[in-house]
Amino acid sequence: MSLKCQEELQRGLENCLQTLTGVIKTVVSMKAVQIHQHGGPEVLKYEEVADPICGSGDVLVQLKAASINHLDLWVRQGIPGWKVSLPLTPGCDGAGVVAGKGELIKDLNVGDKVLVIPNVSCGNCEYCVNGDDNLCPEYGIVGETCNGCDAEMIALPRRNIIPIPKGLTYEEAAAIPLVFMTAWHMLVTKAQVKPEQFVLVLAAGSGVGSAAIQIAKLHGAKVIATAGNDAKLEKAKGLGADFLINHYKEPISEMVKQYTENRGVDVVVEHVGKATWEESLKSLAKGGKIVTCGATTGSEVSINLNYIFYKHQQIIGSTMSTRGELFEILNFVRQKKLKPVIDKEFMLKEVADAHRYVAEGKQFGKVILTI
Ligand code: ZN
Repeated sequence: MSLKCQEELQRGLENCLQTLTGVIKTVVSMKAVQIHQHGGPEVLKYEEVADPICGSGDVLVQLKAASINHLDLWVRQGIPGWKVSLPLTPGCDGAGVVAGKGELIKDLNVGDKVLVIPNVSCGNCEYCVNGDDNLCPEYGIVGETCNGCDAEMIALPRRNIIPIPKGLTYEEAAAIPLVFMTAWHMLVTKAQVKPEQFVLVLAAGSGVGSAAIQIAKLHGAKVIATAGNDAKLEKAKGLGADFLINHYKEPISEMVKQYTENRGVDVVVEHVGKATWEESLKSLAKGGKIVTCGATTGSEVSINLNYIFYKHQQIIGSTMSTRGELFEILNFVRQKKLKPVIDKEFMLKEVADAHRYVAEGKQFGKVILTI
């Protein structure tokens, strides 16, 4: 081989190597939390993964904060009969900066501060067209049915990305969607809460609880809040709760009787399940409604139908909310009538500790991952 040929071959090889290195850098260049198998917090792996692919109708977001929801714990643990496709990056709520966008996106720019809407739906079915996207047959949640926000970057369709209201930090923005949407749909859409009604909010220290107190007060209701210690009850009072019950020391329904002069409550915000179900039913007034969005302590409960029909009571199921309801919520956040409640922040790589902390129920409000 001539010297010229050898030099050309070497240059060619070097170019090839450079291109390959570049490809490897762009494909495997971000850090994310991944679940490869269901289990305890130790299955949460903080590792390098491929960058998300941003399609023509997508927005690429460099995430700055995500928040932990109880749903993340279910996704991590796995639930019999409910298949989650693995590996998966969890995290339903996130906020960050637009880092790129598909060629069809005209109205957002690189650098804009944005928030992730967790709802995944087809956008075309009768429910989606009517604005009831949480009833869509293809309904899912970011971080549950597709990769979520516990990552440095996420690419999602434009309809999942909205600007952050001015004045909110990334952490505050990431603390809003899932819990406020859930509580809003339960109280406003399903229970149709009215001024002067009594609303019982169980586990006020949870994300849904701290949102539900504020939403009930916003609608003029009287709130009875329960929590497991006095420090949490004081914080519930600070959010507007009118009456307080330490649910480890006082029977909930007995205290409800006292506070309502034997009438009972018009609405129970039920997300605890088995541990509180009987007390929730006993606390309900004639014509009252239990709205349930979760069962963190177990989902098998018993019901005495005699009470339900004789007292004209309703048991209503509710999952998340529509995307439209998030816009309503954010309007009240802008007016400072609703506010995200943050308990504690962890670094993204400390995600396992954050899950342990939430599982122990120590928090009042939301636990944030900073990215
Ligand atoms: Zn649909």
